Amino acid sequence: MMDQCCGRCANVMASETAGTGLRCGWPYYKLSPKARKMQRLDVFEPVEATACCGYYREPGPQGLLFATSADVLMGSRA
Ligand code: SF4
Repeated sequence: MMDQCCGRCANVMASETAGTGLRCGWPYYKLSPKARKMQRLDVFEPVEATACCGYYREPGPQGLLFATSADVLMGSRA
């Protein structure tokens, strides 16, 4: 299993409407907090939990909580 993958990235968003259950939130998180405007989740690209890209960002304490649940999507935990 890759450590720097979408399922563990701080930019990922959980989404029930994505076939993979995840969407890449980089276009949102790359903006400063003041400039961010939340959009419909379906404007963000669905991503596989095991995919990766150059914008991967280590999760903070909150992200680690999500990463733990995303492990199920990656099949690394029963
Ligand atoms: S595509 Fe890149 S930035 Fe987006 S969630 Fe995956 S690793 Fe993170």
